[in-house]
Amino acid sequence: MTSESNKYQAWTDKALANEDFSREECLEILASPEIDLLKLASAAGDVRMKTFGKKVKIHQINNVQNGLCPEDCGYCGQSKDSDLPVNKYALKPEDEIVEEARQAKERGVYRYCMVSSGTGLNDKRTDQFANIIGRIRDEVGIKTCLSAGFVEYEQAKKLKEAGLDRLNHNLNTSESHTPEVVTTHTYQDRLDTLRNSRQAGLENCSGMIAGMGESDNDVVDVVFEVRRLAVPSIPINFLVPVEGNRVYDFDQLDPIRCVRILCLFRFLNPKAEIRMGGGREGHLRGLQSLALYAANSVFVEGYLVTRGDRKNKVFRLIKDAGFEIENEEAFQIEDDEVSSKKFSIDDNPSILNPKTTKAQGCAPSTSS
Ligand code: SF4
Repeated sequence: MTSESNKYQAWTDKALANEDFSREECLEILASPEIDLLKLASAAGDVRMKTFGKKVKIHQINNVQNGLCPEDCGYCGQSKDSDLPVNKYALKPEDEIVEEARQAKERGVYRYCMVSSGTGLNDKRTDQFANIIGRIRDEVGIKTCLSAGFVEYEQAKKLKEAGLDRLNHNLNTSESHTPEVVTTHTYQDRLDTLRNSRQAGLENCSGMIAGMGESDNDVVDVVFEVRRLAVPSIPINFLVPVEGNRVYDFDQLDPIRCVRILCLFRFLNPKAEIRMGGGREGHLRGLQSLALYAANSVFVEGYLVTRGDRKNKVFRLIKDAGFEIENEEAFQIEDDEVSSKKFSIDDNPSILNPKTTKAQGCAPSTSS
């Protein structure tokens, strides 16, 4: 029997040995009132340090097509059912997307993530993306990730041959909670896309959106599933409750629960890139620094239709917490912009309140 004081070390050791955690252990990490948050984050931090050291990877999303989606994902402002006044546009011109990839590379962004709204790919859209990805590979030379809904095996193969590294398709929530969130497709449809892309040789990127009314067991189901699938890249989004979307009226997240969720994902996926995604600013608030002990990656400067903190503010947060920005020299920022000595008043107070209103035009989620 592990003593209370050795429990955290035992979790670190288990994670580093990549051993399974029981459901009971996961539920304890998520919800037990006995948990010491600092010890938990420190234990998860030891796992993170082993693979990633103090580095934090910076990701930035480019929404290459916005809105106009026939799916009914209740959390998404681009859904046909959402009243949110999002800026709708069809696929951006190829030259524009390639140029944005070039600019992302020049800014030091590690991976260029293209996100396109809609149910999934068809043959014409697959050819368009294959052309774009091929040009980015040949003309820019930056790693790419695509999130474009459901993907068949042959389509994934074509994208892989064009140079795509990674395909994002989030599980979002557990199998049993999925019908509460979306009715136009199933959890199995999501698993099928992840399988098709893996079989085509693409890396998977898949995570969840916490705060959509799920139970603790639902969170554990998702962490077990991404572990089973050995997903190397796991974005954890926190629902930004936006009036106008069907799924918004939940109040189940607080900074401590968000840190617990990230630590749980770290213990069960010790070598995966775990990313703090949409909603981190509003839900983690002052605990974003602590969350870096579990997560080793962040999105900067917004999500699909949600504002995020500006890049420099995120960089300062990372450095103040004693972490290092991967590829920092490429970001071309003035030293004092990330210095802890530079005082600045938050110029974006609305983001501190996760009860974002329709008038502010925000929505949750980072991807399909
Ligand atoms: S999450 Fe993706 S598939 Fe679902 S409504 Fe939004 S854009 Fe459409």
